[in-house]
Amino acid sequence: MFFVSGLRCPKVLVNSILAVAVGMLSGCVSTPESHQHSAHNQAVATAAAADFELDGYYESLPSLGKKGYFVEQLAPEVYFFSTGIYNNLFFVTPEGVVITDPIKGKGKLLKQAIREVTSQPVRFMIYSHSHLDHIGDAYLFAGEGVQIVAQVETGKALRKYKDRNRPVPHINFGTNYTLSIGGISIELIYPGEGHGKGNSIIYIPSRKVLMYVDVATPKSVPFKNFAYTIDIASHTRGIEKALKLDFDVYVAGHLHRTGTRQEMEEVLAYHYASKEASIKAIKNVSYLKLRAKTKTKDIENLFGEYLTEVAEQCYQILKPEWKHRLMGFEAFTRGNCDIWISYHRTHKAP
Ligand SMILES: [Zn+2]
Repeated sequence: MFFVSGLRCPKVLVNSILAVAVGMLSGCVSTPESHQHSAHNQAVATAAAADFELDGYYESLPSLGKKGYFVEQLAPEVYFFSTGIYNNLFFVTPEGVVITDPIKGKGKLLKQAIREVTSQPVRFMIYSHSHLDHIGDAYLFAGEGVQIVAQVETGKALRKYKDRNRPVPHINFGTNYTLSIGGISIELIYPGEGHGKGNSIIYIPSRKVLMYVDVATPKSVPFKNFAYTIDIASHTRGIEKALKLDFDVYVAGHLHRTGTRQEMEEVLAYHYASKEASIKAIKNVSYLKLRAKTKTKDIENLFGEYLTEVAEQCYQILKPEWKHRLMGFEAFTRGNCDIWISYHRTHKAP
């Protein structure tokens, strides 16, 4: 694990010569520099500064090797599986294996990863939510002896989709469900709609490990338009509820690594900051002034110009603090601002 928690610097700082060059630029590290290396360091510094300006904070994806995935034991019975972009947990007990979220196109790799650790059969399959990208290979694990568990809303959605790749759950829970197997208890908790109806927390209290998918990717700005969340306030509340649980490590459904509690708190802080920035931006941008200046005669275009300007201002407010803290800032911040702006227009005016 190469990430240095709490270091507000690009990831390159921690393991390469760039540490010296960028550190000098950013004040993250300070190291004496010899004269003979100064020209080289200058060139590296220039390149790193360009990356820094373009991307802000980032972590490079480590090599997946020939296997195409990573497996890491997080605690007794608890294994982390990642294909770099997507991830999940599986549990190995003397009474069988429990898997979560068989990622679309990666089910065979998950089978291989499980076989690296145990010859026990899969007994349970938990869906975090109904989305195809996360559970699209469920059919590879479904069959005799495998019980599928999901929240009621996930079950409803899957019965509607009639997708053979995503078989419907056998066990449909409401707010809470405890799956006890082979000496561990896996708690399933529905914190409300958030990222989508049915999206549930998978929590192992005895191991202080939690999985909550598509809600708070570590060191990352929420995905485009908050990953298409319909109810943004409920999405924020979901993270607040997750943080009430006692955990040290969490699995976000995405990224090559797990996250820490502090990293989930940081994403929540971005939720608050982007909400606040959107309110400021709404107050800063005058629709009437924009109307006086615009060249368009189309009232819809005018409204579009106004919303674009508000999102731009919101992005500018967030940039000094967040660009160098979270990945995806350039890609997703304006879209996230858009979601809050719609929320203020339709749900709760500032
Ligand atoms: Zn999703």
